Amino acid sequence: MKEIQSKINIIGGGLIGAAAAYSLSKLGNSVVILEKNAKFDHKKILDKRTTAISEGTKKYLENIDIWKEIRNYAEPINKIQIIDRNQSNKIYFDNQRRSSNLGYIVRNEFILKSFYKKLQKQKNVKIFNNVSVNDIFYKEDRIITKQKDFSINSNLLLASDGKNSFIRKIFKTPIYSKDYKKKAIVVNFYHSKNHQNTAYEFFLKNGPLAILPMQNNKNEFQSSIVWTNTSEFINSLISLDDKKIIDILNSKTQGSIGKIKKIITKQTFPLRAHLNSKFYEKRTVYIGDSAHSFHPIAGQGWNLGMQDLESLYILVKKYNSLGLELGDDIFCKEFQKNNFFKAFRLYQITDKVDSIFKLDNEIFNQARFSAINVIERSKKLKNQISDFAMGVN
Ligand SMILES: Cc1cc2nc3c(=O)[nH]c(=O)nc-3n(C[C@H](O)[C@H](O)[C@H](O)COP(=O)(O)OP(=O)(O)OC[C@H]3O[C@@H](n4cnc5c(N)ncnc54)[C@H](O)[C@@H]3O)c2cc1C
Repeated sequence: MKEIQSKINIIGGGLIGAAAAYSLSKLGNSVVILEKNAKFDHKKILDKRTTAISEGTKKYLENIDIWKEIRNYAEPINKIQIIDRNQSNKIYFDNQRRSSNLGYIVRNEFILKSFYKKLQKQKNVKIFNNVSVNDIFYKEDRIITKQKDFSINSNLLLASDGKNSFIRKIFKTPIYSKDYKKKAIVVNFYHSKNHQNTAYEFFLKNGPLAILPMQNNKNEFQSSIVWTNTSEFINSLISLDDKKIIDILNSKTQGSIGKIKKIITKQTFPLRAHLNSKFYEKRTVYIGDSAHSFHPIAGQGWNLGMQDLESLYILVKKYNSLGLELGDDIFCKEFQKNNFFKAFRLYQITDKVDSIFKLDNEIFNQARFSAINVIERSKKLKNQISDFAMGVN
């Protein structure tokens, strides 16, 4: 069986794996990346979601010299309105105190396309499509993955194989998890009124509904809705014809972007969150959704995965400059120390925010409306919240 030697072996070519392969190859490391689907052909990307990219992630993308590609597809967010049940209870954010935007909305397929384009040009990267790992073997100084026809022998294995990580199953790494028994529907659509680069998050009784401003398409205003609701509701909603879906969405969006005219794409996603009990195993680190996944209430899953990646990039750079071998025990533990707590904190915050906004009786509603009022009037609290969302705290 053929054996490929590489410093770094990356399993999973999604939004995190592709970013990791590009970042780490730029540091001069030989990299192999395996993707079980035909993802590296951008025409075959089925994910029609958008991602809200935070300012912190944008800075890292600038640092690794890919933001100039991605920004061609990015729509800035200048204002955010958080609306609890109705327009009289709302918090309004803008970013006049900083000279940056509050975030950027980009379609996932364009983020992937930008990374794939760059990766094809990296001479020290080998890409394998339609290949999955069958097994893993560990030797003290190497980690070996076996595929159907070949093996890969590397110093460091990166598990970026998503929330149902196969690598995690092989190592039997325990996880904490929560099944929200809910789904999110993601609908991209044309509408009548300019979104003015405003993102809206409506906290409704059964879950949040976000409207995210997308780039115009041939002078048509375009936005994306991410609506969380019970699985039964979302299953029945997606089974309706587009005209009925539009009527329902128009009634929920309260005229903020005018009338929804035409649905472009619609997809549903089950909502589960998890946190690995640790972010490493032998010569292996978990990164992105293989380490953690969250309720999408704050649109932070990929952004946090990119923070994992940035810290890994710094660690690999340090090891390379000291001539140390990647992936030893100290390396893995340092990665864990730098990243576990941030993920634990986001797991707790997203879960608690979801619970608070779901509560629906007179006492809780009154308490929440008062809290919203306090935040809306406090510059300091608003600044802290927007810094957290922007990933710059
Ligand atoms: C509705 C919704 C909206 C969201 N919105 C936002 C947002 O606005 N902002 C944000 O930051 N985050 C958002 N997220 C979260 C974000 O989408 C994820 O955090 C991100 O996509 C994770 O990327 P990943 O590469 O870690 O995992 P994935 O995208 O799941 O990629 C894993 C890859 O590994 C491959 N793979 C799996 N097993 C194997 C194997 N054995 N061998 C080889 N390959 C394998 C898969 O085919 C896949 O390509 C949202 C999530 C949802 C559900």
